[in-house]
Amino acid sequence: MWVFQFPQSVQLPQYTTHFTPRTPPKPPACSFTIKPSATTTNTNNNRLIQSLCKQGNLKQALKVLSHEPNPTQHTYELLILSCGHKNSLPDAESVHDHLVNNGFDQDPFLATKLIAMYSELDSIDNVRKVFDKTRNRTIYVWNALFRALTLAGRGEEVLDLYRRMNKIGIPSDRFTYTYVLKACVASECLISLLKKGKEIHARILRDGCDSRVHIMTTLVDMYARFGCVDYASRVFSAMPVKNVVSWSAMIACYAKNGKPYEALELFHEMMLQTHDSFPNSVTMVSVLQACAALAALEQGKLIHGYVLRRGLDSILPVTSALMTMYARCGKLEVAQRIFNQVDKKDVVSWNSLISSYGIHGFGMKAIQIFKDMLYHGVSPSTVTFVSVLGACSHAGLVDEGKRLFDSMWKEHRIRPGVEHYACMVDLLGRANRFDEAAKIIEDMRIEPGPKVWGSLLGACRIHCIVELAERASSRLFELEPTNAGNYVLLADIYAEAQMWDEVKRMRKLLEAPKLQKVPGRSWIEVKRKMYSFVSVDEFKPQIEQVHALLIKLSKEMKEKGYVRQTKVVLYDLDEEEKERILLGHSEKLAVSFGLINTNYGEAVRITKNLRLCEDCHSFTKFVSRFANKEILVRDVNRFHHFKDGDCSCGDYW
Ligand code: ZN
Ligand code: ZN
Repeated sequence: MWVFQFPQSVQLPQYTTHFTPRTPPKPPACSFTIKPSATTTNTNNNRLIQSLCKQGNLKQALKVLSHEPNPTQHTYELLILSCGHKNSLPDAESVHDHLVNNGFDQDPFLATKLIAMYSELDSIDNVRKVFDKTRNRTIYVWNALFRALTLAGRGEEVLDLYRRMNKIGIPSDRFTYTYVLKACVASECLISLLKKGKEIHARILRDGCDSRVHIMTTLVDMYARFGCVDYASRVFSAMPVKNVVSWSAMIACYAKNGKPYEALELFHEMMLQTHDSFPNSVTMVSVLQACAALAALEQGKLIHGYVLRRGLDSILPVTSALMTMYARCGKLEVAQRIFNQVDKKDVVSWNSLISSYGIHGFGMKAIQIFKDMLYHGVSPSTVTFVSVLGACSHAGLVDEGKRLFDSMWKEHRIRPGVEHYACMVDLLGRANRFDEAAKIIEDMRIEPGPKVWGSLLGACRIHCIVELAERASSRLFELEPTNAGNYVLLADIYAEAQMWDEVKRMRKLLEAPKLQKVPGRSWIEVKRKMYSFVSVDEFKPQIEQVHALLIKLSKEMKEKGYVRQTKVVLYDLDEEEKERILLGHSEKLAVSFGLINTNYGEAVRITKNLRLCEDCHSFTKFVSRFANKEILVRDVNRFHHFKDGDCSCGDYW
């Protein structure tokens, strides 16, 4: 059965457009006299300062400024811009003082420039100082402040000030709406801000601003960040006019919220519907992410061709997305080749390469790339450490992982976040070093959260550690009350420990309607079409050929010594019944389907939304030898490359 079919030949436009970065709106220059003595005539010194600023010679410009008693508004504007470009806070503050002494401190135009400058210099205290001292507060000054605070991640402050602005009676303009919507997601505690975002949405509708493309696109973005895909999709559908940014926002929303099918479908719709605006680099990044999520190699290649034709292949985020796509489709060597061709590699390019090797289980290679990156003078980011620690975890490199984790703060001044702790717990737990894993959690400076407890529970599942698993689960049940996956994991552990009463109790709890159950699902791409298989608890004939082959394989493999891992079945049933259930697992259906539909020498590529179970793992190993077929399976954790009866993970996943 297939749920999604991508057209085999999409007519892709053949010409290129140029990507123009969006610049913040420019408030109109105010021209009023600030104080009677201030002159607006452009003296020679003024002209000299302006031209020095344009040449980038700030030091000299400041020297001339000290001899100019009457600088003009334009002179100050250029000086402020220069200080921002030169990233010099002391110079910025001296220009600011100078301007105040010359009576320009109530000039709203310069106030917006000062706010933008201090925002660029990351000096939010100064941003607030400028704003608080400005009595003439036009909407432009408010907008400048909202923009600066949003960029600094101070969303809640923006929303407080926005309330104040409404109270004073200053009407919002389209930029205000854009900034306050962005402010709703520029904060750590997203849940409380969703309500505020919805309130602003209502106000936009009341003000009749819902036909503005820019505002509505920001709304789509906001709902996407909150994970409210339905809301985003409703706003998007209702937009009377859509531009490339709105299409990209909605495609990104699907790609980032676990709906890669929908992302590809919408991209296809975009290609059919828009005649005057073509996908840009931002669109391509999301589309490539969707291909990566589905391991849709043929689709990905098609997109790659399009990227090349449009000349988007030199844009760094696109090359990184291409690398990730190839790596996640099992083509590590292509990812490496693309990386080699990138001229100026940024931290994202390096991160992509590190995680590519990581998910394929090449931990030492990932560490080597990390060292190369440092050698090339690129500073690691928080994502780099998630990638490299993840790589250590997949390869069981405990000591290396511990060393890297220690170096985060000591050498790179990066404080470990929840994700890094989760990696460490995973690494230590998988290596059966639970005392150390527990110690890591105890010593955490931040709340462990579901990621860390989830890692611990996952590791307990591998080693069947009942007591610790119960502790981790009780925290998870509180933190993620609707996630059925945690109940299933604990039930798995009980089943392995033969604690059938507990398994029964878990199955009862799992029936609660509030629990969101994720069915096991596997995808396979055959001749540019995606096919999806869902696990069935009972073995019902659906695709006769697939099932017939499975039964045949299973019988012959048994004769050759293959033993079923029936312990993974969560029921206390007889062995034969367990075997029937195991044969219904989605990855087995996909493997069988792949064997039927691929040519000799062609590899089978499968993606699975959950972790591969032990039985499917050993089944696939056996099939790879028995049918002489290379099979690549990417499960939720990593890559498994099955060949000649072995798996690249070395049974460690
Ligand atoms: Zn399975
Ligand atoms: Zn494996």
